[in-house]
Amino acid sequence: MDNCIFCKIVKGEIPAYKVYEDESYIAILDINPAAYGHTLVIPKAHFADVYEVDEEYGAKLLPVLKKAAEAVKEVTGAQGVNILQNNGAVAGQTVMHYHAHIIPRVAGDGLNFSWIPKNPSKQFMAEMTEKLAAKINE
Ligand code: 5GP
Ligand code: ZN
Repeated sequence: MDNCIFCKIVKGEIPAYKVYEDESYIAILDINPAAYGHTLVIPKAHFADVYEVDEEYGAKLLPVLKKAAEAVKEVTGAQGVNILQNNGAVAGQTVMHYHAHIIPRVAGDGLNFSWIPKNPSKQFMAEMTEKLAAKINE
């Protein structure tokens, strides 16, 4: 897609620190990393977000994430990793080409992806379960 920074990186029109490539995915270092070794896994085809990703690409994603997460953890000496994936500007997505973040974590690194839990009633949980189950299985 024209004017998509990740499509340009996939095509080699913009340089990137590429750590992995196969027929469907690349993985590159994030240019503004949350932590040293912060890596992005990016499909070669343009999908704006998770809703657009097709079945073929979707099925191939987890093995790439697994390999990349293992490598990031081992090479950086991290104790864990966060895998994040933003969909929509309101959710923090700034590049509208699907990608997953792999962020290495160590104790006391100052990063914070936690939240204050809501307190849903049993009725809410039951109704939400019913609605989501109906929609997902549609
Ligand atoms: P989002 O906020 O869309 O989930 O994440 C976009 C990520 O892409 C950001 O973490 C940002 O630093 C990274 N990014 C944006 N432009 C470039 C670029 O040109 N090269 C690389 N390697 N990363 C980029
Ligand atoms: Zn793109």
